[in-house]
Amino acid sequence: MVNRSRWRRAFDALFPYACLLCQLPSENNKAICDACEVELPWLGAHCQQCALPLPPGSTAIHCGKCLQRPPAFARCLCPLRYDFPVGGLINQFKHHGQLAAGALLGELWLEACRDRLEAAEPELLVPVPLHWRRRWQRGYNQAELLAEQWSAALKIPMLRAAKRRQWTSAQQGLSANQRRQNLRKAFAVLQPESIAGKHLALVDDVLTTGATAHSLAAILTRCGARRVDIWCLARTP
Ligand SMILES: [Zn+2]
Ligand SMILES: [Zn+2]
Repeated sequence: MVNRSRWRRAFDALFPYACLLCQLPSENNKAICDACEVELPWLGAHCQQCALPLPPGSTAIHCGKCLQRPPAFARCLCPLRYDFPVGGLINQFKHHGQLAAGALLGELWLEACRDRLEAAEPELLVPVPLHWRRRWQRGYNQAELLAEQWSAALKIPMLRAAKRRQWTSAQQGLSANQRRQNLRKAFAVLQPESIAGKHLALVDDVLTTGATAHSLAAILTRCGARRVDIWCLARTP
């Protein structure tokens, strides 16, 4: 028994992390093993502006939608497709208090995207806000946790520059037009003086239609931001 627990301790010291997906010891100091990491739904060819997946082998820079009606944000940095098992990890992070899943996804983002910042590094990270009621229910804002992690790793300050004014739980089931109107009223910018002339990155977990990101980027631009990018974990196809 004594020997066994000693073995166990030695084993845990060698492999301190278990893979969140297959539960086997991870060999790389991350909460995911190499085999599971390779198989994640990495984003292949995608639109440089909104990260929408493009057909494999496509050399297009923008998707048709961004060419016709460009969104208010300049660029989206996103490493993954919102697909199995990333959807499950994000769901665990957002709705079940599994902060380790969020920390892992944040780390994967850094590994995949920090080299793509090049000369276009933003000056401030702005988490997409939650309405206070939802934040209170959940106990945290997942976008804020990601922004904190990336802010510490990249030494770029984080600023809660916006707040969600209304309870927009009823977005589903609305027409695109109603949705846009709803979103236009949904956000308010706090301290516009601290974003004036600045290049910002809006941080969120998932980019779905891009409507929320577009509305928020438009409001921040109207309040004086010079450029707004989107940083997120996963893009829905
Ligand atoms: Zn694994
Ligand atoms: Zn696009």
